[in-house]
Order: sequence, then C-alpha cells, then structure tokens
Amino acid sequence: MTKPIDLAASVRSIVDYPKPGIIFRDITTLLGDAVVFRQAVDELVRPYTGLGVDKIAGIEARGFILGGALAHQLSAGFVPIRKKGKLPHETVRIAYSLEYGVDEMEMHVDAVKPGEKVILTDDLIATGGTAEGAVKLLRQQGAEIVSACFVIDLPELGGRRKLEALGVEVRTLMEFE
Ligand code: 5GP
Repeated sequence: MTKPIDLAASVRSIVDYPKPGIIFRDITTLLGDAVVFRQAVDELVRPYTGLGVDKIAGIEARGFILGGALAHQLSAGFVPIRKKGKLPHETVRIAYSLEYGVDEMEMHVDAVKPGEKVILTDDLIATGGTAEGAVKLLRQQGAEIVSACFVIDLPELGGRRKLEALGVEVRTLMEFE
C-alpha cells in the first residue's frame, strides 16, 4: 500500500507575513509538488463527482489555480471572480469586507446563467468575507451555489460559520490555528 500523503505538511508557514503577528499559510509548496497537488485536487473533487456541476467559480488569484484543475476534473466551465477593473467585458460588482477595510470584486455579467450549479473555490478561508462576497455576487446572477471548497480553513476566524449561515455547504482539506 502506498503511504498516505500528509497534505498539511506540504503547506509552508511564513511568520510575520505580510505583517508582524500574521502567520501566512503558503500553498505554493503544495502546488509545486506533482503528487501532493494531484492528491489535493482529487480530494477536493471527490464529493462533487456526478453532481452535474456546471461551473467552478475561482477567486483571484490562487482560486484560479485550484478552480482550473477542479473544472477540468468535473468537466465544468470556469468563472473568474476578480478584483475590480481587471475583467474586459461588462461586469457586476460587489463590495466585500476584509479583515481591515473593504474592497470590491467583479465577475462578467454573463459568466453564469440563472439556475446553473456552481462550486466556489479559493485556497483559504479565514474571516469568510471574500467568499461571502463571491457567494452574493454569484447568487445575484441566479447561480445555485452547490458548495464552497478551500484547501485551508482557519476555523478561529469564523469563515466557515459565515458561509454556512448563508446556506452554503463548506468543504476544506485541513485546518490551521
Ligand atoms: P477572508 O476573506 O476569508 O478573511 O480571507 C481569505 C482570502 O485571503 C483568500 O482569498 C485567501 O487567498 C487570502 N488569505 C488570507 N490569509 C491567507 C493565508 O494565510 N494564506 C493564503 N494562502 N491566503 C490567505
């Protein structure tokens, strides 16, 4: 039997980044290992196989990497949710809360059709403010959010609870304090 891979061990923790007191969970080390990356994608995809998902929506920027892989595996389309001013066609925009302050995100107005089944993805959920904004934006356009998945959950920051309170199922591969 092959040894199971410890996905959490492949995440690099960077102390005091981007500012003192923060431990940044860096997934580039997970992405850079072919075996680990494949396993992470396989684990994210497994519960969604056969659900007839139409689209994966990925949050800029690391959600694009995961979202592209998930979309391929599930034979779904991919929708980029971007910081404002980056998308070339007509967009819909929403303000969302960050740990300190607010920002705005956008997606193309025709990126999802009403009733389409969408899975939202990003690398990490912390306070959930970013994912909450994306859920609202997608729902405004009529998407049915099947689930939201992340490689990492920081449970102490309450993001999972925030999404679940919106009626969104949340799946994650690991937790860090
Ligand atoms: P939230 O809105 O849930 O508070 O923050 C989540 C967003 O911030 C995600 O888009 C995520 O990529 C980014 N983020 C916040 N902290 C970290 C971290 O420690 N590691 C990584 N990779 N992303 C983070």
